[in-house]
Parts: sequence; C-alpha cells; structure tokens
Amino acid sequence: MTKLNPQRQKLVIVGNGMVSHRLCLRLVESGALQTYDVIVLGEEPRRAYDRVHLTDFFKTRSVDPLYLCDDDWYRDNNITLHTGTAVVSIDRETRVVHSSDGIARSYDRLVLATGSAPFVPRIENDDVEGVFVYRTIEDLEAIIEHASRASSAAVLGGGLLGLEAAKAALDLGLNTSVVELADRLMPTQLDAEGGAVLRRKIEELGIRVYPGERTAACLGETTLSGLLFASGEVLNTDMLIISAGIRPRDELARSAGLNVGERGGIVVDDTMATSDPNIYAVGEVASFDGRCFGLVAPCYAMVDVLVGQLAAGEDSRFSANTPPTALKLLGVEVGAFGDCFARGDHTDTAKAVGGIFPGQPPKREKTAMDTAALFANKTKIALAANVLLRAKTHGRLTAGKLLRLESGVCGPWHDGRRGPCGRRQ
Ligand SMILES: Cc1cc2nc3c(=O)[nH]c(=O)nc-3n(C[C@H](O)[C@H](O)[C@H](O)COP(=O)(O)OP(=O)(O)OC[C@H]3O[C@@H](n4cnc5c(N)ncnc54)[C@H](O)[C@@H]3O)c2cc1C
Repeated sequence: MTKLNPQRQKLVIVGNGMVSHRLCLRLVESGALQTYDVIVLGEEPRRAYDRVHLTDFFKTRSVDPLYLCDDDWYRDNNITLHTGTAVVSIDRETRVVHSSDGIARSYDRLVLATGSAPFVPRIENDDVEGVFVYRTIEDLEAIIEHASRASSAAVLGGGLLGLEAAKAALDLGLNTSVVELADRLMPTQLDAEGGAVLRRKIEELGIRVYPGERTAACLGETTLSGLLFASGEVLNTDMLIISAGIRPRDELARSAGLNVGERGGIVVDDTMATSDPNIYAVGEVASFDGRCFGLVAPCYAMVDVLVGQLAAGEDSRFSANTPPTALKLLGVEVGAFGDCFARGDHTDTAKAVGGIFPGQPPKREKTAMDTAALFANKTKIALAANVLLRAKTHGRLTAGKLLRLESGVCGPWHDGRRGPCGRRQ
C-alpha cells in the first residue's frame, strides 16, 4: 500500500481508461511522482485495457492480451489504483472527491479522464432482452452470451464502430444487418459514390445494409424479435447492437458546476485546464474549441500537454489538428485522403474505397495502399503517404484496417507499439 506524504501534492485522476493509463505512464517517465502522490479511481471492475482493440476479445475471450500494463504496474510505480470505484461528486470548495466506496479523498489537483458512453437514440421498447451497446468488456461478454442463443443480429449505425461491430456479429456466426439513418455508410467520411462502393463491398461479405432507415421501436414482449422502422418496414432480428455514436461522460463535471460545451464535454483551454484552475480534463470527455475527440491519438496529445504543464513546468499547449488515424473495418480497405468532400481538382484530394476513385474511373482495381503510392509524389498528401508506409512497415495496415487522413496534417500515430511496461500503449 502506498504511503501518502502530506507534504506532497495530491493528484487524483478520475477514470482508468486508455487516457488515464497514458497519463500515469507519462507522469512516471517525467519524474512527477517525486512531487505528486497519485491516486486513480476507476469505475470499471478491472485496470485499464486497450479499448481500440476491444473487438479482439471476441477471438481471444480473454482480457489479458488487452491490458495496458501488468497487474502490479501501478503499485510498483507508487500509484494507488482503486478499480470498481466510481467518483460520485466533487466538492470544489474543500477539494474533496466522494466515491462509491463511501470514502472522501482530498486533492490538490484533479484530472477528469472519464471518457465517453455510447449514444443510445430514442427507441420505443428498447429495454427488452437482446439490446446491447459496444464499449466495455462487460458489453462484449453480454453480446457473446446472447449470441449463443441467437441466429441474427442488427447493428444500429453504419459508421466506423458500427461496421466493426457488424464484423464481430458476422464472425459470431450471426446473420448480420446494418441499419443506418443516413443515406449511405460512413456518412462522415465518405460521399455518396464512396458510400455506394463500400455498401457493395460489405454486402459481398454477406451483411445486409439498410440505409436511410430510422429505428422507431424494438419488437418483442420480453426478448427482442425485430425492429420496426419509421418507414413501417420490419426487420426480424434476435439481437440489436447499438453503435450510433458516443457522448462525453461529463455528468460529474456538470454537477460540480464546471463549464461544459454546448454539445457536451468538459470545456478545457489549451493547457487542459477546466473552468476551475485546480481541475483538468483529458481524453474523450474534454471539449476543446467546442469539439470532443473520439479517437485515441488526439487524446494522447492532450496527456502530453498536461504532463508538460504539471510535471515539466513547460508551457505546452494543445492544438486541434486532426491526426491521421487507423480504425478497423471488415476486410475492406478504405482510404480517404485530403478533404473527402472537396469538389473538382483531384490532384490534392483523392478518395478511394477498395481503390475506386469517384470521378476518375480506375484503369484497374487498386488497393488503398496502391492509391497512396500513386499519390505519394503529390506534395499535399506526401505526409499521408509517409504515414501509410510507416503503417505498412509496422504491419498495421493489413486488410481490415481503415485509414483516414485529413488535410495532410500529421500527428501522433497509434500503431500499437509496445510500451515501457511491455504492453501495448
Ligand atoms: C470498439 C471500439 C473501437 C475503437 N477503435 C478505435 C480505433 O481504431 N482508433 C482510435 O483512435 N480510437 C478507437 N476507439 C476509441 C478509443 O477507444 C477512445 O478514444 C479511447 O478509449 C478514449 O479513452 P478515454 O480514457 O478518454 O475514455 P475511456 O476509454 O472511455 O475511459 C474512461 C474511463 O473512465 C471511467 N469513468 C467514467 N466516469 C467515471 C467516474 N465518475 N468515476 C470513475 N471512473 C469513471 C469509465 O468507466 C472508463 O473506464 C475505439 C473505441 C471502441 C469502443
């Protein structure tokens, strides 16, 4: 058990997700533990794991390969970790947090790294058995258990995570459908042409796609038997996996009177400070310039800024560049380079799904990798191509990865490299 020294500063971190773990790692590396006694309070029943690779759990059925550090890493580094402990309120006057274990803990500095929760749209009768979200190990355990008694699944949401969930459902041997409110898959990344190509590729995998459908109600008395769309159509299904976006978990900050963004998230400045100078927010829950970030790379960039501020005495600042990001997708390679929605000149904008260029019929089918090579000599996306090559070197961009690069801006790349504690970081 770590002995707390009252002379030192107390740094309390709320949440033990990927960003909280990265923060602890960087605090250790920076020598900040000489100044701070660090306590981490995490609501989930286990220590931090790699949520980016959560879907691997379907294959391995074990959390072990996903853990971001060994069991004793926190203790060995003099960090006190309490799992299964939710912080329920913050008293900013007395600088105390109250948690579900009934203990009040004081802080000098508080960091909120509470992440996001799945967004669940309003659907009538959605409390029947067989309706799931897709965020934690417990969610996946529940999906696996129900799938053993099911033959079909529908995924609500045709975005990146929805398609990842659909692939998982397919791999579980379920007859799988994807229901998307917009008129095409991946509407944030792809235009109509790109979306149509992607739909064809996904249907070739045996997944049915229902674009432009709003799910109005779940059918079934106690257990799900189907979905009723607003159009009046019915889709028979034994289970529903909702993957319709995320919402920042800012409830703690709201009740403590911290400023929150119009669209949610805890408002931070470019040093990651909230409206209370003793409280910081990092990760998916932080709202910078009116925007929350749902990808791990910008969240890790926030950690570097905060550690610079807290430990190194640096005047480090966060900027909202969109870094290149890799996500995983169904054995279909999708590359989006430059501004996907730009018109006209294709020299600084290229789009490719399985190598198809909207507006420029290809002479032959190309892979996303070929596409990058083709554009590697164009200055505006040279950086993008470099990242692709790096990804290839690391063996990360295989079939099943989606690469999305915007505006040729490069930032940190989450390539699954091993961290100092011998785990993925
Ligand atoms: C299936 C899936 C695939 C993904 N794939 C990719 C990908 O390929 N690339 C990518 O960049 N990103 C991906 N992401 C997103 C990535 O996982 C997140 O950006 C990242 O996990 C954010 O980390 P975080 O620590 O901010 O939030 P979280 O990981 O959500 O961690 C927050 C933690 O805080 C806890 N918490 C909340 N409130 C409290 C409280 N009051 N008290 C105590 N604890 C609390 C939560 O229980 C949670 O454990 C994926 C996400 C999912 C779900």
